[in-house]
Amino acid sequence: MDKNWRDWKWQWKNSLKSEADFSRYFDLTDSERQAFQQTAHLFKFQTTPYYASLADGKNPEDPIRKMIVPTIKETNQGRQSQWDPLGEGNHSPVSRIIHRYPDRVLFLITDMCGVYCRYCTRKHFTGNDQAFPKSKEYSEAIHYIKSNRAIREVILSGGDPLSLSDDRLLKVMEDISAISHVELVRIGTRMPVVNPLRITEELVNMLRQFHPVYIMVHFNHPKELTAEAGEALTRLANSGFPVMNQMVLLNGINNHEAIVQALSRRLLKLRVQPYYMFQVDPSRGTDHLRTSVMDSRKIQRELWGRVSGLMMPNLSLDIPGGGGKVGFAPDYILFESDEKIKFRGWDGIEEEYVNPRPDHIKKPDITEYLEEWQTIKSAKYGSGTKSQAIHHLRPEASLF
Ligand SMILES: *Cc1c(COP(=O)(O)O)cnc(C)c1O
Ligand code: SF4
Repeated sequence: MDKNWRDWKWQWKNSLKSEADFSRYFDLTDSERQAFQQTAHLFKFQTTPYYASLADGKNPEDPIRKMIVPTIKETNQGRQSQWDPLGEGNHSPVSRIIHRYPDRVLFLITDMCGVYCRYCTRKHFTGNDQAFPKSKEYSEAIHYIKSNRAIREVILSGGDPLSLSDDRLLKVMEDISAISHVELVRIGTRMPVVNPLRITEELVNMLRQFHPVYIMVHFNHPKELTAEAGEALTRLANSGFPVMNQMVLLNGINNHEAIVQALSRRLLKLRVQPYYMFQVDPSRGTDHLRTSVMDSRKIQRELWGRVSGLMMPNLSLDIPGGGGKVGFAPDYILFESDEKIKFRGWDGIEEEYVNPRPDHIKKPDITEYLEEWQTIKSAKYGSGTKSQAIHHLRPEASLF
């Protein structure tokens, strides 16, 4: 093992990016070899040596391998096949900003990631070497946030914000925290999974000046929870960052309740709260990695009630085309009327909940909270303008 193995920059610089690089870690199958040649124009290949080393290079069914090594199945566009499944282009009022919900925006501050996950939803943006926004794009994005008082939360995303240098991040955090109506920042990152050494003492000390800062991590499988990942998560929790996990249910990789429970329980012990369990979006060339909603709901039902509510992620999907997120909960209702609801609970017990008289419902005094609520209710968000930053890349015509 290289003496610099534990240096995150070494991991970054020595990333595997080509068939030749990957073949040093994996006995590539024919399908994988073909994919390196035939899908190179569609989506980058990349992983850190650290993350590649977690996979079994001899086993084509290894869960980590399936997340990072392409197969020829990616040339199959898929049943729904969307380049921008979340319709983000339609909710991008200025380049790099996605404003889909009134009180929070995504700020895509880089398109680079530590690894390129084969199921990525944002293939239309990630891995195009756009890196940090140009100075004009950047100031327009900051200006947009500044001029929308309903925006209370900025979600740094991409790409992976923690692929930027500490200095760049410091500047972004300073600029955002100077906006008085922004109350918190979320950072969505896969670095604790794919390059956990990135979570250095210096990084954490820099970011903690800007609390509240929430860190959204993306672990999909218990095999990803190594000693190094555990150290990174502990460092974050010890520095007061709430850490939440957003997982994706992936076909043949983690779509079983036993795996979800193992992952969630280990995360909870490391003070990471499982937050979302997403359905894969119908991003082009990802059908082989998608599960059905039926399969996902069955996993949710198996876990519901059996495991601590603290470790129960919210099953959710994004309505294709930009309809926003919808959540699922198991349906335990047998019968419902104005007077009462009858349930059969998770382990089979049947009972009713009888409502109090509906005409006695009254609302509390809200004078103190009304104005705050109205800025959110009346907020303008989204926009019909197609974002150039998102759409000028990889024209559709050259795709297939
Ligand atoms: C998912 C998402 C968010 C965050 O949603 P939460 O439910 O608050 O986690 C914000 N903006 C966009 C565009 C999103 O897709
Ligand atoms: S880390 Fe996230 S944005 Fe980057 S390739 Fe993976 S899923 Fe896509």
